[in-house]
Amino acid sequence: AVFRSEIVRNIIEEVVTLMNAEALLHNVSIQLDLPKAPVIIQCDVNQMKQVLVNIIKNAVEAFHESGVIRITLRSKEDFIEISVEDNGPGIPEEDLELLGKPFFTTKEKGTGLGLLVSRRIVQAHGGTLHVRSKLAEGTTVLLRLPLNFEPA
Ligand code: ADP
Ligand code: MG
Repeated sequence: AVFRSEIVRNIIEEVVTLMNAEALLHNVSIQLDLPKAPVIIQCDVNQMKQVLVNIIKNAVEAFHESGVIRITLRSKEDFIEISVEDNGPGIPEEDLELLGKPFFTTKEKGTGLGLLVSRRIVQAHGGTLHVRSKLAEGTTVLLRLPLNFEPA
């Protein structure tokens, strides 16, 4: 991994630009809630983009018809939070504990590796990945990343 100081807003905006075509195809709109002040973390930009692509792709794929994905960036004392929230169908309780287990997928052509890989990348950045979900309400994936991370 190549760790550099990166402006988180730029990473999010570049990934959303990348994903917007697929989202529009599914009648899904992506809304951004980003602070004005620049938020900078130490990260491998390509790995971080991979994480966001995986999570946003899951949200897009979850919708049966149209929907909204909201991406929020918040800066806390010594960490940042990125949440990706969808108002899709949600995840059944019995599936929640299987999320991120290797090859767990509910998709015909899924790999069941997206969340696993995403969590590993986030952990290699000293952070955490949590999934909250409620049937018929939607799913939120919450990433927490430390502001001052020194890779081993
Ligand atoms: P894949 O996308 O290949 O199935 P992932 O690890 O990315 O593998 O996701 C595993 C499973 O988690 C998906 O198959 C899906 O059932 C569930 N999932 C992930 N994100 C969402 C979401 N936003 N809404 C509903 N289900 C989701
Ligand atoms: Mg996936």
